[in-house]
Amino acid sequence: MQHKLYIHNTLNRQKELFEPLNEPFVGMYVCGPTVYGDPHLGHARPSITFDILFRWLRYSGYKVRYVRNITDVGHLEHDADEGEDKIAKKARLEQIEPMEVVQYYTIRYHNAMNALNVLPPSIEPRASGHILEQMEYVQKIIDNGFAYESEGSVYFDVEKYNQKHHYGILSGRNIEEILENTRSLDGQSEKRRSVDFALWKKASPEHIMRWQSKWSDGFPGWHLECSAMGQKYLGERFDIHGGGMDLIFPHHECEIAQSVASLGHSTVRYWMHNNMITINGQKMGKSLGNFITLDEFFTGSHSLLTEAYSPMTIRFFILQAHYRSTLDFSNEALMASQKGFLRLVEAYERLQKIVPSKETSVEIKDWNTLCMDAMNDDLNTPIVISHLFDAAKTINTVYDGKGTLSETDLNMFKAVFRTYMIDILGLKTEQGDSKYLDSYKKAIDLILTLRLEAKQNKNWALSDKIRDELASYGFVVKDTKDGFEWSL
Ligand code: ZN
Repeated sequence: MQHKLYIHNTLNRQKELFEPLNEPFVGMYVCGPTVYGDPHLGHARPSITFDILFRWLRYSGYKVRYVRNITDVGHLEHDADEGEDKIAKKARLEQIEPMEVVQYYTIRYHNAMNALNVLPPSIEPRASGHILEQMEYVQKIIDNGFAYESEGSVYFDVEKYNQKHHYGILSGRNIEEILENTRSLDGQSEKRRSVDFALWKKASPEHIMRWQSKWSDGFPGWHLECSAMGQKYLGERFDIHGGGMDLIFPHHECEIAQSVASLGHSTVRYWMHNNMITINGQKMGKSLGNFITLDEFFTGSHSLLTEAYSPMTIRFFILQAHYRSTLDFSNEALMASQKGFLRLVEAYERLQKIVPSKETSVEIKDWNTLCMDAMNDDLNTPIVISHLFDAAKTINTVYDGKGTLSETDLNMFKAVFRTYMIDILGLKTEQGDSKYLDSYKKAIDLILTLRLEAKQNKNWALSDKIRDELASYGFVVKDTKDGFEWSL
């Protein structure tokens, strides 16, 4: 590739030059949602972060196979030994099949991703459709001596693994210390150590989602699905594995241990993690009452929200922070973001109306290179946005008649906005249903054209009536030398 992309690798804790194993092909795996509840803010950040990476890699000329799974096997919370999985619980409470729960929330997730303009991945495998692959994976780890069977369940032997390999390589956790502290289990547990994690879990009688295996009627451990499906679709070695920072431990640490225990080597070259979000400075959580779903953001129906925020405002807000920084949601910050985004949209729309001159009289920069360099520096979207704002200022100067642009320079502006704002950042200039909006805009234009005709016919009464009525609906109409301008 012509351009050098640097990405931060969690494994080495530094930015590294991105060199795919098999250029121009890139394999990328991102942990997808567990589908037992409405998609919320916590789903938006990883999906948008890796959507940006997906878009940028494709733009840079790579052929990307992007795999994002659907976790539709219920699992138990935090590998707890007891309890009911969440999908099954929801199904029992609502008296429906677990797969109805899965289907309902998968569709809700897809709709939300669509609204946020997140591109669909190349493959979206479901854990429940890959039980055989997961069983084979468990067997391989047993055969290699890193797992043991106990009461119908199979556990990964962390201590044994850590004697030969490094459990903690990704998270930097001191596993010796954890092992030391958990040396004596009280004999109540079927696990040798509390740090051991389940590869296969025997199902309790009330557990609905279960499959037959040689060990027991049960279900695979959560960490296993990503190892098995990643390997199935991207091979024994692939380029990128991503997810939220909260997945580093134990999920991704366990994934590495599983692949090393099964294959003798790790599968992933670059591990990438987005940072977490907070709401009004607090971690988001059901018990804190600040758990806001994406739908609630889009409709403004949560009590913490003073208004509805469009999907593009949410997307823009997330991109205004670097993916490795924390991000705090508040009404003030979202409203500021909304204003900023509308400023960019306005500049983009004005850009389409500017008529080129013979010469350029305003100062211009090589915004294309500036934006490209920012993207290649670990996907620095806030810097890209600041360059777009900078370019927008110049557009406004020209639009206001205080400067001129040659055709070449005008086309440069158009290309920069088209590429970075629309294609790479994925910001749609029209909010909501674009077809509906388009018709609505045309209707207002028609009314104002009729008003212009009334004015030309000196029918002041009609012309004023139209202006005043529109004003009462919240439209601001401005007469210009070419006709009119309006905004809501
Ligand atoms: Zn995963």
